[in-house]
Amino acid sequence: MARVLDGAAIAAAIKGEVAEEVKALAKQGIRPGLAAVLVGHVPASEIYVASKVKTCGELGLCSDLITPPDTVTTEEMLDLVLALNNREDVDGILIQLPLPKHVEAKFLLDSVSPDKDVDGFHPVNAGKLQAGRPALAPCTPAGVIEILKRSGLPIIGQHAVVVGRSDIVGKPVSMLLLHENATVTICHSKTRDLGAITRQADILVAAIGRPGFIKPEMVKPGATIIDVGINRITTREEFDQFFAGDSKREAAFAKRGSTIVGDVHPKAFELAGAYTPVPGGVGPLTIAMLMANTVRAAKLRRGL
Ligand code: NDP
Repeated sequence: MARVLDGAAIAAAIKGEVAEEVKALAKQGIRPGLAAVLVGHVPASEIYVASKVKTCGELGLCSDLITPPDTVTTEEMLDLVLALNNREDVDGILIQLPLPKHVEAKFLLDSVSPDKDVDGFHPVNAGKLQAGRPALAPCTPAGVIEILKRSGLPIIGQHAVVVGRSDIVGKPVSMLLLHENATVTICHSKTRDLGAITRQADILVAAIGRPGFIKPEMVKPGATIIDVGINRITTREEFDQFFAGDSKREAAFAKRGSTIVGDVHPKAFELAGAYTPVPGGVGPLTIAMLMANTVRAAKLRRGL
């Protein structure tokens, strides 16, 4: 039977360690601070940011929530970011995406000081990651590595196949796996005979954004499957395709009218040696790693 990798438990352990570090820093008069910028009223973004701010409070970090209206201009956002770059009490700056279409997101992300780029999206941090000296690595990819390591799963010499090459998940997770001495293959929408490649994976990372895309016939029996995908499904047809006969899911779906499925078909997990469930796998690590990055940024900026 496949081993379920409990992301919530791993995230809780990391948060516990972060809280200890925050306590130790307090003795030196340092309190790491995160500034979160949330533009307008995107419901999912409001939930994510509220959870990040709450976690800061629980672990003893400072947080400052800044909420410009969705009419904010790129220039006004730039002024805001530059002010945060200069604030001594701010160690990490988080600009919650997506931004309104008229705001130049890439330009703004590039204007965040690399020292305070706790999302790890800045080209300077992407370059450092590539060069093998990560300063602030993107949170979700860093979380994937924590899951593997803390679960005692081997990485060295393993064939890791990453499906997806986005700047926020696919590419950085591939780099991190490479630095951990895996042999890495990166696949994308133009990859030919994807199944033939994924079937070679000892570690299969799915970061595609398509519900249940990785089917059982694409998996090598015994592989470790890391499912980064988060896809909301709302129709009965989709539900039956993935969760027919799952009474627990059925109850939740009936109550909420939707449920979450990853990029891996639940039937494919049955073949795995170990896998991250959705929800409760990779997801919880993202906030834990954001907290860890904020404390790391506070220390790095002070030369600690
Ligand atoms: P993107 O849409 O930016 O990238 C998706 C990638 O999948 C692309 O590289 C694309 O290839 C590839 N892809 C799409 N279709 C296929 C296909 N048919 N065959 C092979 N590859 C394909 O998504 P993200 O990387 O931002 O996110 C991926 C998933 O992870 C999403 O479900 C997202 O919600 C989730 N996510 C979860 C997080 C968490 O906290 N757990 C955090 C961030 C994301 P190409 O480049 O050729 O277009």
